[in-house]
Amino acid sequence: MSSAASRILKDVFGYDAFRGQQAAIIQRVAEGGDALVLMPTGGGKSLCYQVPALLREGLAVVVSPLIALMEDQVSTLDELGVAAVALNSSLSADEQREVAERIRQGEIKLLYVAPERLVQPRMLAFLQRLQIALFAIDEAHCVSQWGHDFRPEYLQLGQLAELFPNVPRIALTATADKRTREEIAQRLHLDQAERFLSSFDRPNIFYRIVPKDQPRKQLLAFLAERKGDAGIVYCLSRKKVDEVAAFLSAQGFPALPYHAGLPSELRSYHQKRFLNEEGLIMVATIAFGMGIDKPNVRFVAHLDLPKSLEAYYQETGRAGRDGLPADAWMAYGLQDVLLLKQMLANSEGNDRHKRIEQHKLEAMLALCEEIRCRRQALLAYFDEELAKPCGHCDNCIDGVQTWDATEPARQALSAIYRNGQRYGVGHLVDILLGRENDKIRASGHQHLAVFGVGKALNEGEWRSLFRQLVGRGLADIDLDGFGGLRLSETCRPLLRGEVTLQLRRDLKPQTAPKASASAASQLVRADERATWEALRALRRRLAEEHEVPPYVIFPDSTLLEMLRSQPRTLSDMARVSGVGARKLDRYGEAFLDVLNQGEEAAPAVVADLRHELVSLARAGMTPAQIANQLKCAEKSVYNLLAEAITRNQLSLEQALDLPEELLGEIQDAFLDGDGDLPPAAAIAPMFHGRVEEGVLYCVRAALQSEFEL
Ligand code: ADP
Ligand code: ZN
Repeated sequence: MSSAASRILKDVFGYDAFRGQQAAIIQRVAEGGDALVLMPTGGGKSLCYQVPALLREGLAVVVSPLIALMEDQVSTLDELGVAAVALNSSLSADEQREVAERIRQGEIKLLYVAPERLVQPRMLAFLQRLQIALFAIDEAHCVSQWGHDFRPEYLQLGQLAELFPNVPRIALTATADKRTREEIAQRLHLDQAERFLSSFDRPNIFYRIVPKDQPRKQLLAFLAERKGDAGIVYCLSRKKVDEVAAFLSAQGFPALPYHAGLPSELRSYHQKRFLNEEGLIMVATIAFGMGIDKPNVRFVAHLDLPKSLEAYYQETGRAGRDGLPADAWMAYGLQDVLLLKQMLANSEGNDRHKRIEQHKLEAMLALCEEIRCRRQALLAYFDEELAKPCGHCDNCIDGVQTWDATEPARQALSAIYRNGQRYGVGHLVDILLGRENDKIRASGHQHLAVFGVGKALNEGEWRSLFRQLVGRGLADIDLDGFGGLRLSETCRPLLRGEVTLQLRRDLKPQTAPKASASAASQLVRADERATWEALRALRRRLAEEHEVPPYVIFPDSTLLEMLRSQPRTLSDMARVSGVGARKLDRYGEAFLDVLNQGEEAAPAVVADLRHELVSLARAGMTPAQIANQLKCAEKSVYNLLAEAITRNQLSLEQALDLPEELLGEIQDAFLDGDGDLPPAAAIAPMFHGRVEEGVLYCVRAALQSEFEL
């Protein structure tokens, strides 16, 4: 690799070495060749065109589909001291003229632009008069009509090949499927492009899929181990998104809804908060997706089944872009299959298309019921072979218990067959268990030969078995028959006794091991926490000052390295990965101060705690929950709450959830005497055993601030 490229990597970006195929890609493009780059999320695609842009003469033009993505990139480059601008509809005519002028003067190195803007004849003519270093086409899968990110304007980018025959073009995507790859190459006229295909494995993501039992409870248990982490919870419907977001907030997890049914201002407000604040949970439909470049999303949870492995891979891939441990968690049940099949049946598209979608859904189900390593199975679907089980998924860690289900499966299949292939799982289980209820009697099913033959298994085991029969394609859901189960062709060998069937034994929730071995939320040890919080508080303050998300100042991985390597001097600091010349200059001292002056940093920690406490209280957490989250005594929480009330940062209602009468009683006690309010301790005996003394502090603080007003 050229030493010029390595120097740029270190000086501008602050990194010591290229990752994976970055060096080869950069060399190819810097020398003027075309490239098609297929690299997973978090792989480091941006550098693949940013470094050549700095190596080559002229303006680098980057096509990006979303304003949010462009702005994120521009502010990141800005922080690195690289001259970049985004041309988009949010600029006024005057601002656009100014940008054009700066470009003509050669002051700009990278221009980010939306595809529809780029292909305007005026724009193309403008660019043809300039020296162009390269074209980078980001999110190149948007050119594919099959993906859900299809953008018709991308189809017109093919003409760049003819209009700028001597300018190298690099197309980049994190989409793993082959068909899309071919489509990109063809539609963007990249026949001469060298292809750089990276492994699509995301080694830092821990995969877990659990049978859906009581999904909300299961979700809470999962989240309980990840307090304070940012994450995404995907649901299928808008209604469910709203409900789950409200439910989580009520349970003390700061959560925001996001779906296409919300007004667009609210949507972008929520998105902005998710990017700028730490520890928020976004509950969303798949409308929330592309454009989420937040690197420290620590988990992606699915409460509903995605419709394909492509979708699952993409959605879970939004976790852990920064390379630190992250979790992909999903609860899956038979009801999901029914819903998705219904949606598929009602969708537009011809039969061939629907058949393809049907196969994709089946592949998704197969992953859910997989008994081997999940990662091996997932990657195999994208034609990538992982030599050994990964050791970093639920199946690898917990092991999968299987059992010989041949006989019960045959009983189940014959129950389906005997009742005319019209009934759902509930009824089938009643038949097998021999429950003579009204519905059974009405249908006369108590006379079936299979009635009551299945008492060896309990209800849960039967449900699990039916779910797995559908998951493996041995039985199918009949949409015309109102969701009843029917046999599918592939079950014949089993019915005829020619094959046996091994199924996985569902772990009972209470016996299931702790949520994950990755323990993303335990990145920082208890003894490091104070300094970590101080570093984060400084980062937050700088981010606010510069009006950028915190991760643009420094990603978590860089803060973590500062914490662990404890730089003492600016030259130590320069060695930390992610600290380039410009950032060293701007922020080096400030972060060194926090690291080297433990005691002086303490006020920052307290200020930070206060800030966090107010947000948590506003999000509806109880004092006990806040104490737990901030790892401090409940009494201190009450003190800080009272203080925040005095400073009018919180209302009493936000701080505490008190019954009306009790509140009245406490207020009366304070106001009974004349003159000044008595101290809380003076009335505490009256409420002994009924409320925490801290509650009195808060009520008193509220009265006090009311009187002062
Ligand atoms: P992608 O676009 O492929 O999802 P990014 O370009 O956003 O990935 O890079 C992901 C993260 O990895 C960013 O924080 C980036 O700065 C960092 N990164 C990229 N290349 C390197 C490298 N060679 N060394 C260290 N960090 C890197
Ligand atoms: Zn595994």
